[in-house]
Amino acid sequence: ATVLAIETSCDETAVAIVKNRKVCSSIVASQILVHQQYGGVVPEVASRQHLEIINEAIAQALEQAELDWGKIDAIAATCAPGLVGALLVGLTAAKTLAMVHNKPFLGVHHLEGHIYATYLSESTLNPPFLSLLVSGGHTSLIYVKDCGNYETLGQTRDDAAGEAFDKVARLLKLGYPGGPVIDKLAQEGNPQAFALPEGRVSLPGGGFHRYDASFSGLKTAVLRLVQQLEKDNGQLPVADIAASFQDTVARSLTKRAIACALDYGLDTIAIGGGVAANSGLRKNLQAAAAKHNLRVLFPPLKFCTDNAAMIGCAAADHLSRGHTSPLTLGVESRLGLTQVMKLYQPVE
Ligand code: ATP
Ligand code: MG
Ligand code: FE
Repeated sequence: ATVLAIETSCDETAVAIVKNRKVCSSIVASQILVHQQYGGVVPEVASRQHLEIINEAIAQALEQAELDWGKIDAIAATCAPGLVGALLVGLTAAKTLAMVHNKPFLGVHHLEGHIYATYLSESTLNPPFLSLLVSGGHTSLIYVKDCGNYETLGQTRDDAAGEAFDKVARLLKLGYPGGPVIDKLAQEGNPQAFALPEGRVSLPGGGFHRYDASFSGLKTAVLRLVQQLEKDNGQLPVADIAASFQDTVARSLTKRAIACALDYGLDTIAIGGGVAANSGLRKNLQAAAAKHNLRVLFPPLKFCTDNAAMIGCAAADHLSRGHTSPLTLGVESRLGLTQVMKLYQPVE
């Protein structure tokens, strides 16, 4: 089916048209420049920006795909999780268009979208596989069993990986977003310069959780290191700190993803989310996977960070199973992946 999809859960206004797993057009208008002056995403500003450009983005998506409404089979939008005001703009636009053009409407879970991003470049991939989702707000290991059927096997207990990159970048005064800057600096630094704690999650009976991660201790360790170095001589070896921090995050994520895949007998790890762009993580994970005969799939960068093509791809799969959402569907700031099927009406 051909689906027009809208994604406005955070600071990207995105509209795409996909034909099942094929991208016909993908428009992504990032608000980074607007939010940069505040050092992070300001929710109210994000909603207003979405509102101002959503109609133009929809028009561009149709134009780029050279399609008119007659060729669109369904309209979809991200409805959870995310910023409520931001989500409302995309969801309301999608519901209105569905009503006006008399098409089926589907709400989509943002994380299910990130999982589906892999299908856009791996058109023959099918469940089961393990998804390592590393973004600005999430860090999870998800057992992908089928469309709409997910089990979260591991996650961060505090900061998300991307959040850790952003916070460390801020304390190194590198600006927002932090991931790309740290990644670049790390290539000139020595990852062994400083020993930093990986951040393990203790189990009540002793030992450590095999899949859960924790990044807030690592962030604090970097803060202490910076304070100490500043007191000692004032000149910060920023590249070495960036490289050591990045390597610690990459090793932590790699170890957990590999353990999880092996324990559950899954031969494929599909990675998604903005941190999937990280060169240290890519190298580390690829090397470890090769050792264990596992396959690692990285979607192209433009589908790792927020986009609407991944949302359309998930919607098309649900639609092929007869799933549609009621026009009364609302947005939710938090919604677990196990709740995905709540977004759809029972097939009649
Ligand atoms: P969520 O999907 O959890 O709601 P999000 O959609 O805001 O969060 P993404 O857009 O997937 O998150 O990713 C943004 C994050 O990715 C930011 O924290 C950014 O710093 C990080 N990031 C981007 N590029 C890199 C990189 N090369 N290395 C590390 N982190 C990166
Ligand atoms: Mg974003
Ligand atoms: Fe996202």
